[in-house]
Amino acid sequence: MTTTTALSHVDRMAKRAAGFQPSPVRAVFDISMQPGMISLAGGNPYLPVLPMDRIATMAGEVLARRGLEALQYGSGAGTEELQALICQVMELEGIKTAPENVQITAGSQMALELVTKLFCDPGDVVIAEGPTYVGALGVFEGFQAEVAHVAMDNDGVDPDRLQEVISGLKAAGKTIKFFYTIPNFNNPSGISLSLERRQRVVDICRAEGVLIVEDNPYGLLAFDGEAKPALHTLDPDNVFYLGSFSKIFAPGLRVGWVVAPQDVRGRLQIASEATTICPSVLSQLVVEQYVSGFDWRGQIAAYSAVYAARCQATLDALASHMPEGTLWTTPSGGFFTWVTLPEGIDTERVLAAAIEAGVVFVPGSAFHADGGGTNQLRIAFSYAQEEQLTEGVKRLGEAIRSV
Ligand code: PMP
Repeated sequence: MTTTTALSHVDRMAKRAAGFQPSPVRAVFDISMQPGMISLAGGNPYLPVLPMDRIATMAGEVLARRGLEALQYGSGAGTEELQALICQVMELEGIKTAPENVQITAGSQMALELVTKLFCDPGDVVIAEGPTYVGALGVFEGFQAEVAHVAMDNDGVDPDRLQEVISGLKAAGKTIKFFYTIPNFNNPSGISLSLERRQRVVDICRAEGVLIVEDNPYGLLAFDGEAKPALHTLDPDNVFYLGSFSKIFAPGLRVGWVVAPQDVRGRLQIASEATTICPSVLSQLVVEQYVSGFDWRGQIAAYSAVYAARCQATLDALASHMPEGTLWTTPSGGFFTWVTLPEGIDTERVLAAAIEAGVVFVPGSAFHADGGGTNQLRIAFSYAQEEQLTEGVKRLGEAIRSV
């Protein structure tokens, strides 16, 4: 006799699967496609700035000249040439490291997943800025890590607060695995960690035995072209550095990387091979062409100029259309500004009204693991044109006043 069980497939999933929740950014994606809708939601790079004919020629040449290599499996760490070229890119932020310390990944999202997979057991704590990248929260939840936030002011995390959070967690018997930080043009807040605070943050983490995971996809997109030195330069043995070509070239290629302390490199590669065997060789060869045979620094300047103008249009529109008592950040690079509405205004409710008015954004709660950010919201200014940003912020102001 066969017995049947009432358990559904979902019931049979591993406990960690409960953390696999739809991303709030993806959730508004379909809405942002509706005709007439202005999206302040997705942080997409503005690819029309790329000279597409040149890129097409590069990609064509890769296939014509190195097709057998491009379409074959490759090294689990990435191609040696790209590892070396990535070292040149990182020099702009003061990082000096050997090519063999660079593990190439399918975007820095995969690097985040690998580092978390290597370090976090269920119940371990990751410290993160509040607010932080929603895609990182998804990874931490997927590995059943707990997240403790450290609030930011306009200069990034306050080192004293970081110390307090670490001490408090230790006193409560928690195991802290790493401090996850986006020190430049934080997603979602647009805030950067000041130069003065960098050394103290690094010192505190070293003294407390807490690793740092430095996620830096936007660092080269400073509006004034001045890149800040990476935290990695201050303590290479205690900082994992995550980089990406998604914002300085194109996200569709899915090429990012992680620089890991030497004793971790081997395991990192094994973990990466278990996930994806090797990074896409075709994509890596196209990126090699981009970095070795193209004015990629000029391209970064062209991207930054577009974002700087869009940021200014957004800030001007906020000044004109936000109700009294509203605060927002003034980013000096990157894709985002962060808006704080007067206490008690729930941005999830504002979102419903905003969609009616023809504009979407991501509510602030998405960027907190602890229910915070309910009166806050993120505006991405990277993709919409200036007139759309102005009109979108105007509609947002009307939506806020209507709830
Ligand atoms: N980290 C941060 C802070 C991001 O904003 C993003 C993308 N929006 C990523 C990582 C992932 O980027 P990718 O995988 O495309 O490199």
